[in-house]
Amino acid sequence: ASRYQGNHWLQLDNTMVQHIREDKWLESELRDAIAGQQCFVVYQPQYDIHSGHIVGAEVLLRWRHPSYGMVPPDRFIPIAEVSGQIMEIDLWVLEQACRCLDKLTTRGIADFRLAVNASGTELSNPAYPEAVQSMLQRYKIPPHRFGIEITETAIVELDEVARVMVRTLKEIGVEIELDDFGTGYTSLSHLTNLQLDVLKIDRSYIMQLESNPKLVDSILQLADAFSLRVIAEGVETIEQLKLLQQKRCHMAQGYLLSKPVTEEELIALLFADCLA
Ligand code: C2E
Ligand code: CA
Ligand code: CA
Ligand code: CA
Repeated sequence: ASRYQGNHWLQLDNTMVQHIREDKWLESELRDAIAGQQCFVVYQPQYDIHSGHIVGAEVLLRWRHPSYGMVPPDRFIPIAEVSGQIMEIDLWVLEQACRCLDKLTTRGIADFRLAVNASGTELSNPAYPEAVQSMLQRYKIPPHRFGIEITETAIVELDEVARVMVRTLKEIGVEIELDDFGTGYTSLSHLTNLQLDVLKIDRSYIMQLESNPKLVDSILQLADAFSLRVIAEGVETIEQLKLLQQKRCHMAQGYLLSKPVTEEELIALLFADCLA
């Protein structure tokens, strides 16, 4: 048994060493990923629960490495945060999103909004808000058509410098969305000080919706008190959707309604939605 235990630990060690090696390797591969056209974005539609229409989408990054295959964002985003590549990557994502909105406007859809993700680390970069602003100006996109999603954990960890930057983003006119709400410990003062626009209820709460509805109830009450719009994330069942509708949650996003899709698929969904 002791030998087995010994092997077990040895294996664990090797896995950890491999993991660190792979991190290093992915970090260097990531440097050429965008220039090498290995990256693309997908869009996950967000539905107004009451009208049933698609009102926006979240932009999500994908990386297809030529030999590794698809690298999940949960794998490479943390690496890019540590290596300092994240801002460049997120600005590239923002540019793809601007092009998409530009294309939609040309095709007559002008009331559609997109949300991009921002990492806590780039919020500590004073160049970020200005870069966002000049990108929107370059593509002539009205700032209110963009939401910037910041995770609750990132908001809690923000220092004063970063808080000022979030306020600067608000002044530019983009909306601020609190992502993965319920997973961190936001103090109520954050909800007012940062002048948030949208709360995104984390998927873990939606999963418990039927067994533990009070959690979502209290989030909806809180959001109402602060006049925030609410998006339920990770909606996978019709029961969840119906409960959210009863509870007057505003928007829903999840595999039940649509998985993240390509730009062409998104445009097709939007045109079909015009007939509904
Ligand atoms: P997130 O911002 O919480 O994004 C939602 C994740 O949940 C996405 O995974 C999405 O595909 C997945 N999802 C959506 N609906 C459902 C559902 O009904 N069920 C389940 N099980 N999952 C659902 P994805 O695309 O793998 O992204 C993972 C995380 O990576 C994101 O979490 C976000 O934190 C990060 N990320 C993705 N793209 C970017 C980016 O461009 N920039 C930054 N900074 N982070 C990104
Ligand atoms: Ca997000
Ligand atoms: Ca989320
Ligand atoms: Ca997340």
